[in-house]
Parts: sequence; C-alpha cells; structure tokens
Amino acid sequence: MCSNTVRKTPVIKCPHCQAQYLPGEIYMPSSLIGQPEEVVKDGFGKIIYEDYSELKAPEMIEHFICEYCDKPFVIEASVSYKSMTEEPEKDFSTQYVSLLD
Ligand SMILES: [Zn+2]
Repeated sequence: MCSNTVRKTPVIKCPHCQAQYLPGEIYMPSSLIGQPEEVVKDGFGKIIYEDYSELKAPEMIEHFICEYCDKPFVIEASVSYKSMTEEPEKDFSTQYVSLLD
C-alpha cells in the first residue's frame, strides 16, 4: 500500500522513544475481541448471560516492550462498535447526474 494514503489505522507510539506501531503489531485481534464460551439470550436477543474462559476473555490492556528502545509500556485499547441499517443514505453527490439514453 502507498504510504501517502490517508491513514485509517490508529498509530500507537512508544511513550519513551515515540517509535510507531500499528495495533496489529501489538494486539492479537482475537484477544482484543475475546471469544465467548457461552452466550445466552432471551427471546428478544438481549444478552442475559455471557461467559469467557480465562484465556479467551477480551484483553484491552496489553504490555509491550519497545523494539527500538527496549523499554516496557502499557497500551489500553478502547474499541467501539457502531451498527446501522443497510439502507443506502442519500448521496447528494449524484443528485445532478443525469443518465443519457
Ligand atoms: Zn521505544
């Protein structure tokens, strides 16, 4: 990928030497999200019970040793999820486009 493109992935910086890391270099995606052993929902889909084994619980805090300065630091992730319907939103950029036969 081109390094000049707009960066979408947040960068984690070593607090000691400012070396930069991508989250994927530090976090295992599965450990960040966790993997529930059991999820129980009521008839409306509301979660009423969840259980994680100790190894598969979400881990938002990671301890890491910088590869450049060899000093340890701690990273705390804050992950949020947004859900929306799949209905297309009105795109005003195509409003003035007319199709020619
Ligand atoms: Zn460092």
